[in-house]
Amino acid sequence: MALIVQKYGGTSVGTPERIKAVAERVIRWKSKGNDVVVVVSAMSGETNRLIGLINAISPSGSAREKDVIVSTGEQVTIGLLSLALQEQGCDAKSYTGGQVKVLTDNSHSKARIESIDDSAIRDDLAAGKVIVVAGFQGVDEQGNITTLGRGGSDTTAVALAVALKADECQIYTDVDGVYTTDPRVVPNASHIPKLSLEEMLEMASQGSKVLQIRAVEFAHKYDMPIRVLSSFDKDENCKSTLVTREEDIMEKVIVRGVAFNRDEAQLTITGVPDEPGVAHKILGPISDANIEVDMIVQNVGSDNTTDFTFTVHRNEYDKAKEILCETGNKLGARECSGDNKMAKVSIVGVGMRSHAGVAATMFGALAKEGINIRMISTSEIKVAVVIDEKYLELAVRTLHDEFDLDKS
Ligand code: ASP
Ligand code: MG
Repeated sequence: MALIVQKYGGTSVGTPERIKAVAERVIRWKSKGNDVVVVVSAMSGETNRLIGLINAISPSGSAREKDVIVSTGEQVTIGLLSLALQEQGCDAKSYTGGQVKVLTDNSHSKARIESIDDSAIRDDLAAGKVIVVAGFQGVDEQGNITTLGRGGSDTTAVALAVALKADECQIYTDVDGVYTTDPRVVPNASHIPKLSLEEMLEMASQGSKVLQIRAVEFAHKYDMPIRVLSSFDKDENCKSTLVTREEDIMEKVIVRGVAFNRDEAQLTITGVPDEPGVAHKILGPISDANIEVDMIVQNVGSDNTTDFTFTVHRNEYDKAKEILCETGNKLGARECSGDNKMAKVSIVGVGMRSHAGVAATMFGALAKEGINIRMISTSEIKVAVVIDEKYLELAVRTLHDEFDLDKS
């Protein structure tokens, strides 16, 4: 007998029929003798609808009230799924985040989970119930409703699995796992049956959208295995991807996958004084404005000046450029410029640790296609490049071919 936390995303609970199908699946797991805790998202489209309502009244309004509104989608789903389970003869009980309680900090719309009180859930599990918990939401110390950021139900599920010491956290979605790259860009992308949490963490932070990055961070930190499966597959022994500890994976491939992100923008400031404190003067005001910076490159200085380039999300480009150019004026910079039509392509794989020359192979493949690399960043298990967005698809296909990922 195992304790399983299952999470069903928006499309998996998008209609009453889908919710009934989820109830059947939950009952199948339960009737095999497992304890089951289910985390659900809002029905598909619902969170966007709520955000639309907010924007029609007060786009820049109070973050507290916005969380009161956007958290309601999940409350509807927990009630509906509990009713569906009860209709099928299963003793089920719903919990909002506050009822659990999922305690978070008070950063509305991007709150972080601080602790989870699992006592009530444990009592109900012991009494034979299936527990249905609202994803994406929590409460702060003062009892204000908070939300965890878009896609946050994944994080609720992993955090609950950790708190309950579950055997596995299953994320049911509309795809049957993680692929070597997005099959919409490379139709012969292959399904990955098993990869490490660290690889998944890099893939998510480099642009793979299958799992919310915070959820993977949480799972990585606490060694919680995640299994990604499709709620649209009938067979329970269907394909899935197990994301687990590196030691549990036999096959250490050099490149596991190609991740990408379209929404990049690059900013450059040239001819700034090459002296202590300059990086802080340039990036401090950007971070004060809550703009997240991804890659950063500083040139080797000459004539006591240096150049700086960094990337931000495309949505923040205008704001970041304004701030940067203001700093540039103060520092007497030569030029402040940028380009908001950039993309990032990355190769990820734990085998890179023990293989030299992977980056060179990547650069060679891109060069053969005439793709200019604008920035490079590496970690132990990743090489990422920034390129012009118009070459993105070509770059992804080229790298997928180069590293033989369609055969893996
Ligand atoms: N309903 C929320 C969203 O759409 C949370 C989630 O689905 O994970 O972002
Ligand atoms: Mg989601």
